[in-house]
Amino acid sequence: MSHLFDTYVRMPISLVRGQGAWLFDDQDRRYLDALSGIAVCSLGHAHPRIAAALADQAARLIHTANIVHVPQQEALADRLAAISGLERSFIANSGAEAIECALKLARRHAHARHVANPAVLVASDSFHGRTLAALSASGNAAIQAGFGPLVDGFVRVPYGDPQAAAGAFANHPNLVAVLVEPIQGEGGVRVPPAGYLGTLRELCDRHDALLMLDEIQAGIGRTGRWFAFQHEPGLRPDVVTVAKALGNGVPIGACLAREEVAALLPPGSHGTTFGGNPLACRVALEVLAIMAEDDILARASRAGQRLLGRLRQELEGVAGVVEVRGRGLMVGVELAEPAGELKDAAMARGLILNITRGNVIRLLPPLIIDDEQVERIVQVVAELVREKFANSPSSAAVSRSSSGLIDSSALPSAG
Ligand SMILES: *Cc1c(COP(=O)(O)O)cnc(C)c1O
Repeated sequence: MSHLFDTYVRMPISLVRGQGAWLFDDQDRRYLDALSGIAVCSLGHAHPRIAAALADQAARLIHTANIVHVPQQEALADRLAAISGLERSFIANSGAEAIECALKLARRHAHARHVANPAVLVASDSFHGRTLAALSASGNAAIQAGFGPLVDGFVRVPYGDPQAAAGAFANHPNLVAVLVEPIQGEGGVRVPPAGYLGTLRELCDRHDALLMLDEIQAGIGRTGRWFAFQHEPGLRPDVVTVAKALGNGVPIGACLAREEVAALLPPGSHGTTFGGNPLACRVALEVLAIMAEDDILARASRAGQRLLGRLRQELEGVAGVVEVRGRGLMVGVELAEPAGELKDAAMARGLILNITRGNVIRLLPPLIIDDEQVERIVQVVAELVREKFANSPSSAAVSRSSSGLIDSSALPSAG
């Protein structure tokens, strides 16, 4: 009997070591990582520079608490400001904590404006984390079920719909902030229409509301830019949350804000014991340095185009495939039917991936992935999808494999 809470359905393997984009289990079987521990290990596993920075800092000083200056924390905030254009950072330990900080900024902003009953505009199918406020902000009934009363003060509109957001501002004069993901991750790798964030920016400007972007999954290079919002020219949010890839696996999160917005939280108004300790900040600084020096953003962009392009070649128009979409190395293949079983099927063929919203294959490989590894992902995913729908009577009739578009016999089977 396990003494752990039974909160996860886990794949039946134990991974014990990694090397670049490869993972090895306790039987020394090898898996290609197309998930990066959910968008975390963007530089791959066992990166020598990360290991060295971690060991060096551990031998010097791990923790002091925020009762003193922490030079690594100051340096990290400098770097985050340089890459985001947001002058201030609060360093926390996780994504959900970064979201809590953002939501507290929204409440402070409301009180400064004397809005009595403030609300934050959020989107359908969003995911912002598992703390009470973060799950209340999330558009996912499953993660909220049984946890009521939820934190109130949220107005929800369909994601990616600028008219719906404008309508919400017209109907709710108490809106003080917007919180959205620039690309939805858990929501099924949904990329909003071009200009969506710009419209939200205009609405926020007109209504003195904060534009808060949750970049916890899409940020830190994943889409080929430091932040996904940087694909929209000239856009400047008020608040940005990051976490996942920032520490390449060492727990760290951050809430970034414009100078005037950060000023809403003066001394004593917010805090954390572990957050921003020398160890986590030293590693995050190393992550950002490696990404800059090794041109990781450009690599992610190129590998992402290749992955998306090859998946589209193999799968678009194939029975059972609704859409192949994404940006950079944040890619989703939406299927016409629930596909939870493909996670274990992929694992059996030596590929780690996951399924979101029941029917979207989500691919978040390390940003250091090479062309051959991209091709291996494409081959396994295409094989799994074709096999799934070849056996499904509803789609067999329209399978294009017989038309010559895809010749399944030409594909090598992946080990
Ligand atoms: C993972 C995630 C979170 C929550 O981060 P945790 O570190 O798990 O608390 C919040 N928002 C988005 C978009 C995420 O992908």
